[in-house]
Amino acid sequence: MSTSKVARPPGATSEGLHVGESLLKPEEHVLATLEADGSRRWLFPRLAQGDFWSARRSVAYALIAFFTILPHLRFYGKPPVLLDIPTRRFTIMGYTFLPTDTLLLALLMVSGFVSIFLVTALFGRVWCGWGCPQTVYMEFLFRPIDRLFEGTVGKGGQPAKRLSGWRWWARAAVYLAVCAFLTHTFLAYFVGTDRLGQWVTQSPWEHPIPFLIMAVSTILLVFNFIYFREQTCLIACPYGRFQSVMLDRRSLIVTYDHHRGEPRGHGKPVVTQGERTKGDCVDCNKCVQVCPTGIDIRNGLQMECIHCAQCIDACHDVMVKLHMPTGLIRYSNQDSMEHKPSSVWRPRLIIYPVVLLITLSAFMVIFLTKKDFDAKLLRNLGGTFSVSPSGLIDNSLKLSLTNRTENPHAYTLSVLSPASAEVRAIETPEVKLAGGEHSFVPILVSAPFKNFDNGRCPVQLKIVNDSGQERIIDYILLGPYQDPSERSNDLQTDLPESAETSTTIQASQS
Ligand code: SF4
Ligand code: SF4
Repeated sequence: MSTSKVARPPGATSEGLHVGESLLKPEEHVLATLEADGSRRWLFPRLAQGDFWSARRSVAYALIAFFTILPHLRFYGKPPVLLDIPTRRFTIMGYTFLPTDTLLLALLMVSGFVSIFLVTALFGRVWCGWGCPQTVYMEFLFRPIDRLFEGTVGKGGQPAKRLSGWRWWARAAVYLAVCAFLTHTFLAYFVGTDRLGQWVTQSPWEHPIPFLIMAVSTILLVFNFIYFREQTCLIACPYGRFQSVMLDRRSLIVTYDHHRGEPRGHGKPVVTQGERTKGDCVDCNKCVQVCPTGIDIRNGLQMECIHCAQCIDACHDVMVKLHMPTGLIRYSNQDSMEHKPSSVWRPRLIIYPVVLLITLSAFMVIFLTKKDFDAKLLRNLGGTFSVSPSGLIDNSLKLSLTNRTENPHAYTLSVLSPASAEVRAIETPEVKLAGGEHSFVPILVSAPFKNFDNGRCPVQLKIVNDSGQERIIDYILLGPYQDPSERSNDLQTDLPESAETSTTIQASQS
């Protein structure tokens, strides 16, 4: 490789530096997955098959089975989870949230976020280590595949067999097959298993866009698990960073007992004249070798720690073998580790549940009082009002009507007050909607000028469906400040278009 001289920085040797040489040598790894020269440090974590690993494995396989089976189940004839983004309909546990349910969905989302805050404050990054699909699939699906091809089944660590040639391609093929399956499972949450089944059994040319989405998603998934790996947690995942921020000194974390472990050194501690010669850490480095993110937990709480508890299992084995007390690395919290008074209770553990109670209560109240249909009045584009030839003030509106049920229903509209006002559906007095259908129904609401005060006339409309359920809508009609009959000549000049529109509407109705 050719090199060229660069300007000598202050303090550099008289020989100067060459391109490709470091100006400053780092004293330690800046990032766990970077070599000193900035290249990727590939991790081959060893496997510590302790109690936490067994428990995590059971949880992981239960979750994998759950994620896979869930879209195939039916709740009241609907999938338990179906996130139909193009139609903006989200089905959760048999209930379909429609685009008009913004408030319900917002309350659900806020409740979800507050729950995450609460769980993190209590149990730290338990989600990252035990429940996140990235961890679950990486550690319990793809690493076992790696270990199979690398000849390290049951142990992990550096590959015993070189992963090149046919071995690399065979592993890539297995990754591709597994990722294709995972992508189809993932897509089922967005399109449903029925539509997915059609797409899978028909030619890709009949469904080129879904096929393209599936192919690109599969390739991205293969890239993630075969190449990006722990970088997803360290660099890409905002959730991991959020969780780190949400921890406090009394949150449950995986931590190393400095007071007990330091000063570390090889061999068991010896007590001479009541003084220990060293701490309990025998500096075997087992906790580092098993870490899937390549960090040393003895350096304290780190953003990279996904709380997988592999280091706990590894250190536990070491301590047992040396007949020393276990728990040098354990689940605890920062205050306990520093022997500070520690209570579970702190302000956030009161604030979060209170906020959660409020948002969930509001959700339940709105959810339980929901009618079988949604109705909302909106003003039409164009003029605010027009004056009909008979002198009525017409407001051209549109009724946003949604049938929330699975069955067709018919709806009728009437004006409750004032008595002299009337509603005139432009096409038909009865509106029919299919199950789940939404429609904008153009209507004309008219009232005589005497009902207007300062150009405003409050009206109450009633919408009833054929099951007898009704909704009352309050609305303000807009009109002129002066009686149009007294200034009919002026009106011709002021509102020529509106007057004409009104005549047209009347004609179409008759
Ligand atoms: S430090 Fe321990 S708990 Fe944290 S990621 Fe590494 S092995 Fe898992
Ligand atoms: S596994 Fe335990 S004893 Fe070994 S280096 Fe880590 S903390 Fe020290």
